[in-house]
Amino acid sequence: MNTTANANLFSRLFDNLDDPSRLAIEQLDGTRISYADLIALAGKTANVLVARGVKPGDRVAAQTEKSVPALVLYLATVRAGAVYLPLNTAYTLNELDYFIGDAEPSLVVCDPSKAEGIHAIAAKVGAKVETLDANGKGSLTDAAAKAPAEFTTVPRKNDDLAAILYTSGTTGRSKGAMLTQDNLASNSLSLVDYWRFSKDDVLIHALPIYHTHGLFVASNVTLFARAAMIFLPKLDTDLIIKLMARATVLMGVPTFYTRLLQNPALSKESTKHMRLFVSGSAPLLADTHREWSARTGHAVLERYGMTETNMNTSNPYDGERVPGAVGFPLPGVSLRVTDPETGKELARNEIGMIEVKGPNVFKGYWRMPEKTKAEFRDDGFFITGDLGKVDDKGYAHIVGRGKDLVISGGFNVYPKEIESEIDAMPGVVESAVIGVPHADFGEGVTAVVVCNKGADVSEASVLNALDGRLAKFKMPKRVFIVDELPRNAMGKVQKNILRDTYGKIYAK
Ligand code: AMP
Repeated sequence: MNTTANANLFSRLFDNLDDPSRLAIEQLDGTRISYADLIALAGKTANVLVARGVKPGDRVAAQTEKSVPALVLYLATVRAGAVYLPLNTAYTLNELDYFIGDAEPSLVVCDPSKAEGIHAIAAKVGAKVETLDANGKGSLTDAAAKAPAEFTTVPRKNDDLAAILYTSGTTGRSKGAMLTQDNLASNSLSLVDYWRFSKDDVLIHALPIYHTHGLFVASNVTLFARAAMIFLPKLDTDLIIKLMARATVLMGVPTFYTRLLQNPALSKESTKHMRLFVSGSAPLLADTHREWSARTGHAVLERYGMTETNMNTSNPYDGERVPGAVGFPLPGVSLRVTDPETGKELARNEIGMIEVKGPNVFKGYWRMPEKTKAEFRDDGFFITGDLGKVDDKGYAHIVGRGKDLVISGGFNVYPKEIESEIDAMPGVVESAVIGVPHADFGEGVTAVVVCNKGADVSEASVLNALDGRLAKFKMPKRVFIVDELPRNAMGKVQKNILRDTYGKIYAK
């Protein structure tokens, strides 16, 4: 826990730099941004935020493509004592209306192409709007260019919020996970140590920055280590393999590794400058792990975390990185496996609910005290919703999700949300959305739909109706029309049966 006067994450990141001229971020066009540049850019943007009326504790929502100014906006928001609220770039206006209405930000930053729609939504909560495009240009950067770089970092306490990240629920609407200054700082510092980050590291940063993995794990860990990152807008396997010649670390979701394995240029030779490959956000197939080791000579280091908890466990840096296991609890994190019904702790190797406790665990769900209470035990353990076990050697394994979450391409897709959209269509009686194995995406979103007799509902008509209402990553890859859904005696839809029935549809 931080004991210096200002626990603001920005102060903890940058107050004690020994060499501000060090490279922090390199862009593909060759632009190099030093730590001093980054601090100055954050100062300018923080001054714009304050000029727009953003006060400590206010939310700043951002739906922006990945760019350095977008990362600067995150740092500037924290520096100004406000709460950063990143939103997946795939969200439609229909979805943004909920997030903005719920979080009531005082400022929304969006792509210029969405500004008109966002203005109408923001007006309802009295929020101002600024723009930022994929090239980092827009009204925000125009204003920042004219603002002074000096800015006094706003004092914050460990427990004050730094960010809210929305995660969906299987029932009801999305929940905003409130993350404090110390949640973020302590977890990143722990990972710097555990993964042996140093100022000599160069991270290939190809993850999106609206999610905990790319925003906090990748960016904060690199910055705390005084290392450098090469910022890529998205996954590009040819480019990543080329960059490996001068980089040292890659962090990715499992899709990164399956895609890279499809590239013939991946070899022991092309990865010989690299020291670490990290995977997380979804299960890395043991086969992928083994294939990667055989091809490159590097064992992928798999870790387990979630939006609400930051990172919980990691395979060891030294020692065996076990395919299919997510490793040991990080220092300071307690993990136990309990009976999902009774909450009683289970013995080793028994499968149950994974619960965690530690400085990494979030403060609660935004404006949802009841939901927060329901997901914590009385002794402070958070009920993750993931089912798993701890083996004889102490490695944690995730065996499935208690909630019917689907993870497609590393992104969480909550069936309930898609089912609600489908059920609202004319001629539809009900639907069940499941995830089934998909070689490329991990899981493919699949909808099973029951219609009224004679109704004119087809796969094409359902997909057509969903198009534009749901983010692309949530769109079903296939829709099946059936007479009825399988149910158990209690009337619950048996999704396991559906998964068995449709389990092989994406097989290659
Ligand atoms: P998110 O909140 O988007 O980070 O998603 C968190 C969820 O992703 C967790 O609750 C797990 O279900 C899943 N997850 C994250 N890392 C892993 C992993 N290494 N193996 C299996 N599931 C994972």
